[in-house]
Amino acid sequence: MKKTLTKNMVRQAVEEAYNETKTLTGGKNADYIPFLANINPDLFGLSLTLPDGEQFNFGDTDYRFGIESVSKVLTAILILKECGAEAVLRKIGADATGLPFNSIFAILLENDHPSTPLVNAGAISACSMVEPKGDSDAKWQKIINNFTDLCGSEAPLLDELYKSESATNFNNRAITWLLRDYNRIYDDPDMSLDLYTRQCSVGITAQQLSVCAATIANKGFNPVTKKQVFDESLAPKITTLISSVGFYQHTGDWLYTSGIPAKSGVGGGVLGVLPGVFGVAAFAPPLDVAGNSVKAQAAVKAIMNKLGLGVFNGDQVEITD
Ligand code: GLN
Repeated sequence: MKKTLTKNMVRQAVEEAYNETKTLTGGKNADYIPFLANINPDLFGLSLTLPDGEQFNFGDTDYRFGIESVSKVLTAILILKECGAEAVLRKIGADATGLPFNSIFAILLENDHPSTPLVNAGAISACSMVEPKGDSDAKWQKIINNFTDLCGSEAPLLDELYKSESATNFNNRAITWLLRDYNRIYDDPDMSLDLYTRQCSVGITAQQLSVCAATIANKGFNPVTKKQVFDESLAPKITTLISSVGFYQHTGDWLYTSGIPAKSGVGGGVLGVLPGVFGVAAFAPPLDVAGNSVKAQAAVKAIMNKLGLGVFNGDQVEITD
């Protein structure tokens, strides 16, 4: 069925969703990374970007927070571009784990396979795949330039966050060396982990993440810079990865109730992609037990429900002036 919405209907849905969810309580800041425990838990931003670049922003959408696991989507795109969809499937995988993002058990269960670039194991492995091998600075430039391309503007490293994560990432060190034992780290292990930790420590705004989401929804065409960032053929691969594991062990419940593929980070960010229709981002630090922002989930879900949209609804959606 064809479904037509006006831009004003979309803007109104975002505004209502923001107002209805801003007083929501529940959840708590990530505290296993000391820096994140101290972020103001009342911050809240909601940003939606249409395919033509028009953006609707409510709340703290220009506050720079830790991108954390949302970065996994951006670097998955980079290695899909550099190595191709087949190599990513063969070297990492595209499977949901059904387990927490930092699970070592998941690696053992998958028989020495990191499963997907969207959990810690696969994301560290993804950083090891970035070219050129052996050159940490050049690899980092690639990673951060790709962030700029996808988000439409630069995102700086939050030094304090980087230090805080580097000093406490013992579980990720164990993951890295277990993967090394299984030959699933394709460069120096310590360098690969450091690149992963650094990319998680990038400061991003909800406005930037919303542009990134819209670029994915637009099959790689960034609506702000008008640059084709990745080949159209990769768009369904990226959305598949997000759909299958974006919220870790809560991914099925999320997709079932919200209808939008989305990826979370323990900094409180959520990036949602409705292919061909829009990109959305929300940010609020308090998290549920799986590490997904309570308020960001509620806000994105409210937009979807208000507009009657869903990735599996079978509707052809048009947004008019
Ligand atoms: N840097 C965090 C970690 O490795 C990212 C986790 C997340 O956002 N889910 O634990």
